[in-house]
Amino acid sequence: MKIAVIGLGFVGLSLTSVLASKGNNVIGIDVDVEKCKKIRSGIAPFFEPDLEKMLRIGLKKKLTITDDFSLVKDCDMIFVAAGTPQKSNGAIELSMIKKAVTSIGRVLAKSKKSPIVLIKSTVIPGTMQNVILPILERRSGKKAGREFGLISNPEFLQESSAIRDTKFPHVIVLGGYQTKFMKKAKSFFSKLHPNVSITITNHQTAEMIKYANNSFLATKISFINQLSNICQNIPGANIDDIAKTIGLDPRIGALFLNAGPGYGGSCLPKDMKALIDFANKIGINPTLLNAVEKTNQKQIQNIVSIMENTLGTLASKRITVLGTAFKPNTDDVRDSIAIELIKKLLKKKAKITVHDPKAIRNTKNVFGGKICYDESITRALNNSHCAIIMTQWKQFGELNNKSIKCMKRKLIIDCRRILANKKLDAEYYALGIGK
Ligand code: NAD
Repeated sequence: MKIAVIGLGFVGLSLTSVLASKGNNVIGIDVDVEKCKKIRSGIAPFFEPDLEKMLRIGLKKKLTITDDFSLVKDCDMIFVAAGTPQKSNGAIELSMIKKAVTSIGRVLAKSKKSPIVLIKSTVIPGTMQNVILPILERRSGKKAGREFGLISNPEFLQESSAIRDTKFPHVIVLGGYQTKFMKKAKSFFSKLHPNVSITITNHQTAEMIKYANNSFLATKISFINQLSNICQNIPGANIDDIAKTIGLDPRIGALFLNAGPGYGGSCLPKDMKALIDFANKIGINPTLLNAVEKTNQKQIQNIVSIMENTLGTLASKRITVLGTAFKPNTDDVRDSIAIELIKKLLKKKAKITVHDPKAIRNTKNVFGGKICYDESITRALNNSHCAIIMTQWKQFGELNNKSIKCMKRKLIIDCRRILANKKLDAEYYALGIGK
């Protein structure tokens, strides 16, 4: 069996590498020629634990990386993992996925195969029926369900554990018509992931499952952040003890209750906005989802207020931002709250120095020469009026009195409470711990 994966980002490259490392005949395709070159030489274009190792195993087996769509013609399964970012009004941007399926359709027109096209990209309900299926049928001149299969196969991996999540998913969702293609797909996934539950449903339900998943996670985060803000005003209250304890209730669960500066990253903010936009368009006022988003957007303002209440005007104040990656163990800064914070601080004319163990290069792509960068935490803190811990990198837990010695004013705002148990000779504010 030959498998193609279209779009070699976090989702597509993880899938490509895992499938190829198991000896499958895999073709990874991306429109970005430079990216393809890098991947072909065994270099992952972004940091993701174990990805490069898995990619190199795959490259020694039967993995081809190319920008040439014509190779899709011999494939039995075609996974699509092109990006689906957001437009400036929050609506989903489908141009990349439309282009990808147009290219697949053109190749299918000349192919003798009857492949299954599986859409991994996150798309708003109705996209398969109303957008992707018509493009594929029109471009290929073939009928879905008879001459090729079309299945919604949303992805649930998390960046920073993308390889582990691809190898050991918690669920497989297959949406579409009950055809021979669905049977084949079910058999493929049951062999690949024995003992993993498979939900077989229609396209629109599969599409909605992905949004239900992410909007629930975002809701948990905004919930705990709001409680964290309340705790901050109850002297002695500690949000972590509260989260840990309610997380023991199996009806609640422990994950995604880590209070902080708000949710960011390439998925939760854009998926929330797309779902809100979709709900409004179909006449549902998404009051809860709106509140979740608003709570998230306000969280960053709380941080700026703590700074202003302690430092006064931020103009010309030197602020060290520790962590710009949207979470630890990734270099991804897309929609990272730290990036939003820096933008706000720059508007207030603060002078910013950034340190991040992995994301300095991507941060430079956003801010260029407008801010300073340092590979060493201690140097980044030199002469600073305030350090703010944004990302939960475990390295930041090693900060001590020696590392902050050279700060001009020893003010530390710890959005992750990493230093809460340390005796620091500093003015220390931790989100979620009452003063
Ligand atoms: P990404 O931006 O990292 O990668 C997308 C890739 O698609 C890029 O390499 C881009 O060059 C390529 N591409 C764009 N147009 C193309 C085309 N016409 N043909 C071939 N390649 C094309 O995106 P990602 O983070 O991997 O996400 C992909 C999809 O999966 C999105 O819909 C996203 O919402 C969803 N998703 C992402 C995650 C995550 O954690 N990143 C998790 C679950 C689901």
